[in-house]
Amino acid sequence: MEKNLNALTVTDIICVYSGIDGKCGCGCAGKYSYHADPALLTAGALRRGYAVSDDEVNPRMIKKVLKIMQDPTNEARVMREGENVSIVIGSRLYVAHFVEGITCTAPPVAGCLA
Ligand SMILES: [Zn+2]
Repeated sequence: MEKNLNALTVTDIICVYSGIDGKCGCGCAGKYSYHADPALLTAGALRRGYAVSDDEVNPRMIKKVLKIMQDPTNEARVMREGENVSIVIGSRLYVAHFVEGITCTAPPVAGCLA
């Protein structure tokens, strides 16, 4: 299902990444956050191919990143759209990875490069 960025809810997102823009995205320069919900947690582990550890479970961070992405007052740059959305604010990179079947279209964020 294609959704506009503003129509996304937290359960459309399997995990978020928050890290330093331009640096490695493996987790050494940032952090991945996953849902506590067992089904979403399992899907997240399947997606990346190994288990999610307890310290990566942080649903509040998913909510926070979605809020940042949907905030029209942010001077944000949406880098790409599709199966994930990346957004850069200052030196911070945020990525939302969607659950299977969800894609994002036409992010309404000012300065969108897509
Ligand atoms: Zn790394």
